[in-house]
Amino acid sequence: MKEQKENEIELEIREHSDADFFPEACPSCKSSNIKRFTYHLREVQDLGTPLICRRIHYERVYFKCNECGEVFTIEHPLVPINARYVPGVIKYAVVRVLEKGDSIRRVTQDLNELHLVKVSETTVQRWINEQGKKEYLPTDLSDEAPPENFSGFLSLDGTFKSVKVKKNDHNLVH
Ligand SMILES: [Zn+2]
Repeated sequence: MKEQKENEIELEIREHSDADFFPEACPSCKSSNIKRFTYHLREVQDLGTPLICRRIHYERVYFKCNECGEVFTIEHPLVPINARYVPGVIKYAVVRVLEKGDSIRRVTQDLNELHLVKVSETTVQRWINEQGKKEYLPTDLSDEAPPENFSGFLSLDGTFKSVKVKKNDHNLVH
């Protein structure tokens, strides 16, 4: 381990490969005569700290059956197919927004600045929409009139606030 200077950001890289889970049999003909065929590398982001940037170098491997010629892949247990972020990053954002009530903007900033995860608000918004479904109110209501049964809860920046707004009031303030 090398000595860490004050405020110097350490890059922590873990390597995962599908080859660590080398398949035992061809999914097509069940032969065990299998070789690596080709691969591509992908960087996957993990939750770091203000001083540790965590990345996974993931090797997606294509295997080939020497008997029947089938080319196939496996699903790595830790890295979902096509994922750019480990599931824990998404879980963190979803819990903060939906359970802790933090705004999407705030959580995005914290991810970028405190956890060294490069992510846009749009992406975090998508995670929330996908995982939160009905629990979530749209972020930007400025162009819409409140619904008829509007209860006085508005989400201006992704947080849930109790505000007193009469219908059409927001047209006057902007
Ligand atoms: Zn085969």
